[in-house]
Amino acid sequence: MNDQADTPQTPEAEIAALRSNPQPTLRAVAPGMEAHLYTPQPVLDHGFVRVVDYMGDDAAIVQAARVSYGAGTKKARDDSGLIRYLMRHWHSTPFEMCEIKLHVKLPVFVARQWIRHRTANVNEYSARYSVLDREFYIPAPEQLAAQSRVNNQGRGETLQGAEAERVLRLLKEDSMRAYDHYEEMLSQDGQQGLARELARMNLPANVYTQWYWKVDLHNLFHFLRLRADAHAQYEIRVYADAICEMVKDWVPAAYAAFEDYRMGAVQLSARGVDCLKRRLAGETVTQENSGMSKGEWREFEAVWG
Ligand SMILES: Cc1cc2nc3c(=O)[nH]c(=O)nc-3n(C[C@H](O)[C@H](O)[C@H](O)COP(=O)(O)OP(=O)(O)OC[C@H]3O[C@@H](n4cnc5c(N)ncnc54)[C@H](O)[C@@H]3O)c2cc1C
Repeated sequence: MNDQADTPQTPEAEIAALRSNPQPTLRAVAPGMEAHLYTPQPVLDHGFVRVVDYMGDDAAIVQAARVSYGAGTKKARDDSGLIRYLMRHWHSTPFEMCEIKLHVKLPVFVARQWIRHRTANVNEYSARYSVLDREFYIPAPEQLAAQSRVNNQGRGETLQGAEAERVLRLLKEDSMRAYDHYEEMLSQDGQQGLARELARMNLPANVYTQWYWKVDLHNLFHFLRLRADAHAQYEIRVYADAICEMVKDWVPAAYAAFEDYRMGAVQLSARGVDCLKRRLAGETVTQENSGMSKGEWREFEAVWG
């Protein structure tokens, strides 16, 4: 048997082969997610996110909540009402019945932020076993920004002209030089060369890595709440945004509840509730008589004006 002839050679061919070979199944199928399955969604300059597998759909959440035998016992409107109730009251375990497995290609500095989300299963590409590709994240010009003056953890004005060119040149030169040395150290051309597990240590944090990441829907929503948020760094936010689009198609009712009760919602402390009530009663409430710190008051005012 000729393995060469049977085995697709490129990732594109492998994906096309998988997509052209549908299997009949008794499992729950989410039509919106079937459209995404296997296909990479490009993110940043060399990255992507693609769905490798998933389990469950909106009905699976409802079935688990009711501990029922199958779908079709209630109307879709009732199902979405129940999902909204579960989300509103932080009744999270039914959402854990749905799972998703993603293949993600991302810069190492993004992976460091992502891996902090511990409630997932991860398997990363081994740079001990394989040679990393010459692929580095170089920000698009509109993402090259100076340090923010108001937010120590953020970026401010976009760099322009000569300054943007200078920074881009440094980023590109450093990336290429580091990779040249990586290759030189690996080389066994008339020399012993260095092991892959050691040679990789000179590569900068904008080099790309890949992993499989499996997570349940409850913990995925937690990840998306934090990383598809304006406070998250742009480079991880774009991955979260891409995943949001997939989840919207996978579990539309659960995603709509998530958007309403998490993404679009605001949190109010007991002091905040008190201040709002006093304001509604006609009292002039300021930071000084609110009982809130300056930071808290700033955030309160940003929402309530
Ligand atoms: C905008 C932003 C800025 C950040 N800045 C920093 C920073 O400057 N420095 C830094 O170090 N991190 C930073 N982080 C990371 C952040 O502190 C969290 O580590 C990260 O968001 C993962 O959140 P998590 O622990 O809730 O998620 P997960 O690890 O997925 O956990 C989900 C939930 O499970 C529970 N849980 C999981 N594991 C445990 C455990 N071992 N013990 C108890 N409960 C557990 C918790 O309730 C947790 O909320 C930042 C995150 C964001 C979004």
